[in-house]
Amino acid sequence: MCCGGHSHTRHTAHQETHDPKPGTQVAEIAQSCPNCGSPVEADFILCPRCGTPLKRSCPSCHRAVNVDWAICPYCGSTLEESA
Ligand SMILES: [Zn+2]
Ligand SMILES: [Zn+2]
Repeated sequence: MCCGGHSHTRHTAHQETHDPKPGTQVAEIAQSCPNCGSPVEADFILCPRCGTPLKRSCPSCHRAVNVDWAICPYCGSTLEESA
């Protein structure tokens, strides 16, 4: 008689919270202008409608950074509050 390896696999109750919805259309627009509420895209530096600055350029690397960021995530420069 051959006693083969009888491995008992335990069932792990792992529930995935992912809920993919292939049919849902997600718009690229995730932000809106704080002034006029016009939809703005993530890489807009200002509102095309009213001109409210949404982003500013880093004084060091000149990349677009968020107005409320304190430090440039691209080069690490400290972003000063500019008038
Ligand atoms: Zn606006
Ligand atoms: Zn920078």
